[in-house]
Amino acid sequence: MELNERADIDAGSIEDVRGSGGRGGIGGLPIGGGGLTGIVVTLVIALVGGYFGINTLGGGEDTAPTGNSTEQCANQQERTKLLECRNGLYVTSIQRYWQQALPTSFGEQYEPAATRIFSNRVTTGCGAADSGVGPFYCPADDKVYIDLSFYQVLSKELGAPGEFAQPYVLAHEYGHHVQDVLGTEAEMRRRQERDPGNANQESVKLELQADCYAGAWAHSAASTVDKDGDKIFTSLTDADIQEGIQTAGQIGDDTLQKRGGGEINPDGFTHGTSEQRQRWFRVGWESGDPKRCDTFSATTL
Ligand SMILES: [Zn+2]
Repeated sequence: MELNERADIDAGSIEDVRGSGGRGGIGGLPIGGGGLTGIVVTLVIALVGGYFGINTLGGGEDTAPTGNSTEQCANQQERTKLLECRNGLYVTSIQRYWQQALPTSFGEQYEPAATRIFSNRVTTGCGAADSGVGPFYCPADDKVYIDLSFYQVLSKELGAPGEFAQPYVLAHEYGHHVQDVLGTEAEMRRRQERDPGNANQESVKLELQADCYAGAWAHSAASTVDKDGDKIFTSLTDADIQEGIQTAGQIGDDTLQKRGGGEINPDGFTHGTSEQRQRWFRVGWESGDPKRCDTFSATTL
């Protein structure tokens, strides 16, 4: 996978709020030194969005953008080597895909949503959250939140070291944004309230659909272009896509429960098994058609 050094990040697609809270770092980084077991346990329930861990910790949150990542990346030599600039290009590619695919497939206009990069903890429209919950989408403020250190957790702790793991994670979160735009997420919440006994099963369908949407983006990612028509990826191979599938396999509920040392408890699944997550990513990737991602009507997941 190679990004195009000449491609531009869309304005407003990335907001960097790292360090804006002044006294962050109370809890330290979520990886390394101690606390690892706790982190993995947190990830078991929270990994890759949908769920957002809200807490009441006060102070130290990242709140306001401290710099304009888009401009910083534009003026940077060899910017495709910088993690935040690479992420800006991934977000640009994902949103450019949906700007075209949402009207074509669903007859709806896409509404752009920014990704906020934070460190340690952050205040969101959904409450305060910390890095331990993993990346997430907040429907209340229409933003994707990510602490970039999560990628080290994926690589070092969760067995998903491939670089394509990064755009896969972001594309999954933007899948939740698409569900928000289409009203899928709100409908699901209403069904969960009517039938709490099936709440987890509804959550699994929502998560697998987001994986499928990520696959649909992956199908077309190599042809996405920036505002000037420059390709965003100069190289994207099947081997890269396999890294996305591998990532999906490492973060299935059953695999995470095993990794956490507990027994496998299907009633507690909220995101789907490894096999299901891989299968639905593939449905999107092979068809390139987000309409095929209707996990809510599928007879088998
Ligand atoms: Zn999710």
